[in-house]
Amino acid sequence: MTASTPAPGADRDDTGRVVVLGGGLAGVACAHKLGDEGIAVTLVDRNNYHQFQPLLYQVATAQLPAEDIARPHRTIFRELPAVEIRTTQATGIDLEHRTVTLAGGEQVSGADLVIAAGARPEYFGVPGAAEHAFPLYSVADAERLRLHLQDMVRAGSEAGADAGLLDIVVVGGGPTGVEISGAITELMAALVATGRISTPGRIVLIDRGKTLLGGFSDKSHEYAHEKLSSDGADPRLTTGVTAVHADRVELDDGTSIRTRTVIWGGGESAASVIGTATGLKTGRGGRIDVLPDLSVEGHSHVYAVGDAANIPAKDGAILPQLGSVAQQAGLWAAENILRERRGDKREPFRYKDKGIMAMIGRNAAVAEVGRHRHQVEGPVAFAAWLGVHAMLLSGAHSKADAFLSWAWDYFDRDHAAIVEWSDTPQRIVWGDDSADVPHITVDRPGPDTTAGRS
Ligand SMILES: Cc1cc2nc3c(=O)[nH]c(=O)nc-3n(C[C@H](O)[C@H](O)[C@H](O)COP(=O)(O)OP(=O)(O)OC[C@H]3O[C@@H](n4cnc5c(N)ncnc54)[C@H](O)[C@@H]3O)c2cc1C
Repeated sequence: MTASTPAPGADRDDTGRVVVLGGGLAGVACAHKLGDEGIAVTLVDRNNYHQFQPLLYQVATAQLPAEDIARPHRTIFRELPAVEIRTTQATGIDLEHRTVTLAGGEQVSGADLVIAAGARPEYFGVPGAAEHAFPLYSVADAERLRLHLQDMVRAGSEAGADAGLLDIVVVGGGPTGVEISGAITELMAALVATGRISTPGRIVLIDRGKTLLGGFSDKSHEYAHEKLSSDGADPRLTTGVTAVHADRVELDDGTSIRTRTVIWGGGESAASVIGTATGLKTGRGGRIDVLPDLSVEGHSHVYAVGDAANIPAKDGAILPQLGSVAQQAGLWAAENILRERRGDKREPFRYKDKGIMAMIGRNAAVAEVGRHRHQVEGPVAFAAWLGVHAMLLSGAHSKADAFLSWAWDYFDRDHAAIVEWSDTPQRIVWGDDSADVPHITVDRPGPDTTAGRS
């Protein structure tokens, strides 16, 4: 049952229900904790599944089927009857009444509202980018890119390298751009090694900055640059994209690159539904500036977490848009709601820093961990990446160890020999509920179902 719309001016919803907008890493962690404590929750998400963004590259490059990184919400919350799932688009937020308007006009409200709607791609007004570039923020984005690459490979292998159908431009040298460039260079090598194409396509990675992986140390910048270059990609720094067309991109140095595939990792901003909340204080990236306890100033029963929020760190900086920040903040918001209901004081969010890391390819990653950001690279960093991400996955999957064994098995073998350029990449053997497959549609969605991380 859904809590009904409160009368205008009603102060609290006496049912004690919590409305959670967004079923990503933050929203799932929050709803799970509350549901576990028997608190009635309404979880609203446009998709009937939770998606695990760190593995989108593997889906886009046919290393993993989409079903393995998208887990149905009904499965995640199967054991928690207190959590009601509403699979629909949210079209509005009313902070004062802690109410979310759903497509069709229905409203759901709660005693507390947790906004965990994530982000969307930010094209910074670059002409043609929204129409022609491929963002990589959702499973649908990854599937769309995979199907497009598949078409390009088929057409390109017939037309030959001169036709340039396999040439790819990646925009943005942050983790998204670096990781997808790494995955695609490996894919090209595998396609050549298995005889599917004779010459790999050109992969140009463009960024306005002076380095790749801007937020990382110089050592990591160099490692990423060298690894991608030695694998055949062409990182071009201090260069901006000024326009994207169906068949080329234009650059700010006056040149253009012929390509049918522009992958956008150029930036992100908060989910567009956040713009519907009048009186909301937003800051960098259109995200909600939250107080240290994760609530929204002036609306103490509204929380914002994950990629939708600017969450202050102890030193006053803003925490990065990372899975571990989202997951921990979602859980913390739930705990603050519980603390308050017990009559205790809310606590300011304390983030347990897992470090920053980027996977560039098989056994190739950079990781910077610990208080002093100790830098590691190569297989050690790759192992750290797997460990941290298995923990993140465990929020939605009961068998995160299945992910680890898939990963070791897959990445340990000769990649070129096993890449299957088919509709059925090797699945993870979850051993629990693999049959419960989410419904994923790859129709080009509205502007808010896709986004890119910078
Ligand atoms: C390509 C990529 C790779 C990444 N790799 C890593 C990595 O390696 N390590 C790492 O730590 N982090 C990584 N991240 C970042 C990490 O995935 C995010 O920080 C994290 O997923 C944010 O979680 P969230 O719950 O805030 O948002 P999301 O996971 O985006 O969830 C938001 C949810 O809200 C729903 N929603 C939004 N608007 C509406 C609406 N109007 N109506 C209904 N539902 C709505 C969406 O459908 C979605 O399910 C990556 C991100 C991307 C895009």
